[in-house]
Amino acid sequence: MERVYNFSAGPSMLPLEVLEKAAAEMVCYEDSGMSVMEMSHRSPVYEKIIKDAEALFRRVMNIPDNYKVLFLQGGASTQFAAVPLNFMNKNKKADYILSGQFSTKAYQEAQKYGDVVAAASSKDKNFSYVPKTDTSSFRKDADYVHICFNNTIYGTKFPYIPDTGDVPLIADMSSCILSEPIDVSRFGVIYAGAQKNMAPAGLTVVIVREDLLGNAREETPTMLNYKVMADNDSMYNTPPCYCIYVAKLVYEWILGLGGLEEMQKRNEKKAKLLYDYLDSQSYYLAPVEKESRSMMNVTFVTGDAELDKKFAAEASAQGLKNLKGHRSVGGMRASIYNAMPYEGVEKLVEFMKDFAKNNPKD
Ligand SMILES: *Cc1c(COP(=O)(O)O)cnc(C)c1O
Repeated sequence: MERVYNFSAGPSMLPLEVLEKAAAEMVCYEDSGMSVMEMSHRSPVYEKIIKDAEALFRRVMNIPDNYKVLFLQGGASTQFAAVPLNFMNKNKKADYILSGQFSTKAYQEAQKYGDVVAAASSKDKNFSYVPKTDTSSFRKDADYVHICFNNTIYGTKFPYIPDTGDVPLIADMSSCILSEPIDVSRFGVIYAGAQKNMAPAGLTVVIVREDLLGNAREETPTMLNYKVMADNDSMYNTPPCYCIYVAKLVYEWILGLGGLEEMQKRNEKKAKLLYDYLDSQSYYLAPVEKESRSMMNVTFVTGDAELDKKFAAEASAQGLKNLKGHRSVGGMRASIYNAMPYEGVEKLVEFMKDFAKNNPKD
């Protein structure tokens, strides 16, 4: 069977080259005589894989030396608790920007641990934009400010990096990490579930400024203590070995293309094709405020729930899969992560034109 264009929000497409390399090495990795899935994580051959993965990740993202990289498990959702446990440790206060469902979940989880407020929210318009903030939006004695940089469900992205003054900024970048260059030094912590743009599900990466480590709250479970994980090079226990190996292949793939500058160019070109079409017609409505549009997740509706359903079903029959929007938004969502080729978006736009022609609204 031919491979389809998979617009899933996550887990999502991986680059074909990466899958083929993994397949070629699946049974016997180099001269180890075994699969990466079968190796001891303490073996020299695996140690090289994880060390290389970290070095490549640092290179791709241009991570400064005073940041630690952690390869963890539990998904982004586990970090919703790990973040307050590790960092809500001085004044027991934290400020959250609510820009969608995941940031709201993170906010609710953090409320178990202290004085947590919503510094800004876009809930008033069903999260169709990213709220504007400045330093005065945040409490000066907050231990940190938390944001979700790209809102996977609604299709919005921060068009700016909030200025939080001296308060560390912590960002969930699950659905935009590796999509474009990012100035890591503007953040205290960046975390991301890997299954959107980096690797199979099961791996979560955390990038944390060293000076923020070492003051986790007493009740922090050992497995959620970032300092413990940093001191043990992400090997306090068995790491998600195979996912880290695939992530390494993805980092190599990005570097081979020309790094994140090139990745950004490709992503911008894909997103432009789709948004330009959406802006050129009136059959589909793109509900997100233009300034806040995501380059990774593009949402649109026909305005008729039955037509939306028909759209997703007919697209699927033509090999354009998983275009149904999230249940809290309805309509359609095209996730066009790094691994989605330009041709996939071209096919989608062609399909959208045909569908509009064949299904007139009265
Ligand atoms: C998918 C996603 C999550 C949830 O990730 P899990 O790894 O399933 O816990 C959290 N935040 C964002 C921005 C996401 O896209």
